[in-house]
Amino acid sequence: MTDDFAAVLVINAGSSSLKYQLVQPVSGIVRGSGLIERIGGPVSELRHTGPGGTTRSESRIPDATAAFAAMVDGFAAHGPDLAKQPPIAVGHRVVHGGTRFSAATLVDAGVRTEIEQLVPLAPLHQPANLAGIDAAAALFPDLPQVAVFDTAFHGTIPPAAHTYAVPQQWREEYAVRRYGFHGTSHRWASGRAAALLGRADARMVVLHLGNGASACAVDSGRSVETSMGLTPLEGLVMGSRSGDIDPAIAGHLARVAGLSAEQIDTALNQQSGLRGLVGDNDFRELQDRVDAGDPVAQLAFDVVVHRLVKYVGAYAATLGRLDAVVFTGGIGENSAALRTAVVEKLALFGAVLDPTRDAGRGERIVSSPTSRLTVLVVPTDEERQIAMECVQL
Ligand code: AMP
Repeated sequence: MTDDFAAVLVINAGSSSLKYQLVQPVSGIVRGSGLIERIGGPVSELRHTGPGGTTRSESRIPDATAAFAAMVDGFAAHGPDLAKQPPIAVGHRVVHGGTRFSAATLVDAGVRTEIEQLVPLAPLHQPANLAGIDAAAALFPDLPQVAVFDTAFHGTIPPAAHTYAVPQQWREEYAVRRYGFHGTSHRWASGRAAALLGRADARMVVLHLGNGASACAVDSGRSVETSMGLTPLEGLVMGSRSGDIDPAIAGHLARVAGLSAEQIDTALNQQSGLRGLVGDNDFRELQDRVDAGDPVAQLAFDVVVHRLVKYVGAYAATLGRLDAVVFTGGIGENSAALRTAVVEKLALFGAVLDPTRDAGRGERIVSSPTSRLTVLVVPTDEERQIAMECVQL
């Protein structure tokens, strides 16, 4: 391992945003962080937090290279000084590792090519991740660039769970299978939950519920099933993604509404989920409307809860035993109403929430001491998990 003060620069490069964090993996101390949004737009927004506080500004950032230069300016102006205390590595969140990458990997020319070959599996995100790797490598030529894949944790899912019952040619020629995403978050949350439970062999379901949402069945620290598939569209109801639907809906709409494959793809990814049900993808907004007695919002809430309960039940059967359910992500961590509704419906497993514990903060057990099923809240920390994997590598 490394000394407690060594920091990793963690990069999450999206198609129009750059999120970065300089974090010490052992202590978890965040020394600096920032977010640049609307890259490529007329006005980009920059936020940097360093030892001197938080600064915000606006300027035009045309591309990833300019965004990385702005990040370096942020560190130079508001600290910490990267020249004085350089990070030991740059850790990149990369969305798709296909079947090739099941662990954090040092990026060299060959690995970069292999990541590029996976672009067809994640055409929106993978090119942005690559642009981030290229920009960071140009800026920090002496630092190891490490790719940490969102799919990697799910490399242990057995064939019976990751194989779709579709034609052989689709599976073999077009790599159609379940990959799963949110792996870094599931790895972090299940690891913390196992530590809180004091049981490395715990069998649990992790519910990562944010704007994107997925469930993961974890047995002794290994992912054995997850709800996202070839793409992040499958599974739970999300902010703007439908999650599971009858796949024949696509053909039906092509015939009756003349929609193209691209229009259907866009509608299911961007205009469905909570947005499709209530017109807004923000869960807080939904909750306010539920509290005000809005029946449309209540139905959406019920659809979300129903899907979650269905997945927990199925995954409990898959695992053969259920020791714990873990809530993480913006909604999972913050919405007591959602946790209450889900846990109430898990009475079959003897789950009882403790409202006092549930009202607490941070990582904690929120079920009552007499509950047969342990329910936990674990704030996700993908940056620290990425930094830890860089150091381990
Ligand atoms: P994430 O993608 O993990 O950042 O999560 C974003 C989602 O978390 C959004 O739908 C937010 O409305 C939701 N969220 C954040 N804070 C709260 C809160 N206090 N109560 C309910 N939902 C929240």
